[in-house]
Amino acid sequence: MDKDLRLKLAVQKSGRLTDHSLDILSRCGLKISRGKDQLIAVGENLPLDILFVRDDDIPDLVQEDVCDLGLVGLNVLEERRLEMAARGQQAQFQILRSLDFGRCRLSLAVPEGFDWQGLQSLRGKRIATTYPAVLARYLAEHSLQAEIVTLSGAVEIAPRLGRADLICDLVSSGSTLVANRLREVETILQSQVVLIRTPVKLSEFKEQWITRLLLRIDGVEQVKESKYIMLHAPRSALPRIRELLPGSEFPTIIPLEGSPDKVAVHAVCRENVFWETLESLKGAGASALLVLPVEKMLS
Ligand code: ATP
Ligand code: ZN
Repeated sequence: MDKDLRLKLAVQKSGRLTDHSLDILSRCGLKISRGKDQLIAVGENLPLDILFVRDDDIPDLVQEDVCDLGLVGLNVLEERRLEMAARGQQAQFQILRSLDFGRCRLSLAVPEGFDWQGLQSLRGKRIATTYPAVLARYLAEHSLQAEIVTLSGAVEIAPRLGRADLICDLVSSGSTLVANRLREVETILQSQVVLIRTPVKLSEFKEQWITRLLLRIDGVEQVKESKYIMLHAPRSALPRIRELLPGSEFPTIIPLEGSPDKVAVHAVCRENVFWETLESLKGAGASALLVLPVEKMLS
């Protein structure tokens, strides 16, 4: 019975995705009680509990309906999907949203001294990776034959150890590559965190809560860059000022008591408002400019 009343969401236990995942849930209004090293955190104010696991386990937990939802990198999800496809099985998870964190790319990188002449240089080479399925698909798509050396970690040192000629690994800033004297030559997958769900039909109650959660997530993603801007302006300057307001559709125009030729303009700008924009607005005749952060938004 309880299973029909509380959503279970899988989140990485400790790693690059943990803080951002918890942050977005907290912005969605979730308060959790979490003792250190606890496997489950109970949602105190929403019918949503969090299961903390290794990120690699998240696709299967959702696939097997142990969890209803999961937050996981597309890299991990794609690897699992292709691995299953190679065995003739169809993955059972649906992507509900792509989120704006955990950005990285799966790239080919060659050691110093490797004569890289483009993809043809991969022929007959040994490529070390923890993403053999994604790499295999890429090679097949480009009709290239190469040997995939599957490792469980420390891929970046494989060329130095003589285990591979080059690597295929996750990169974000590129500093790990530089530290290991590797040069990124080709991106094979762009990744970010995705929210996935089980394809199983859930109880009406849970389905409603997923819909509510998605609306909140959309709101959270929207307000990140958004600002609320207020200013005074001569009526005659309105057309120019509307042009200058970044990413705002319908500003509210309010008459100012006692000055018939002036108005107050309030607008939500869906892009960051920089000093340059404020200077241009002032140049166009605006005064009393105020920029406020937006905390929540529901469209
Ligand atoms: P776990 O113990 O949960 O298996 P892990 O070592 O696999 O942890 P992390 O290094 O924390 O995982 O990375 C988790 C995810 O963060 C990656 O799968 C990827 O989606 C994302 N990520 C973003 N930038 C990077 C990066 N530079 N290197 C590795 N992963 C990155
Ligand atoms: Zn992992």
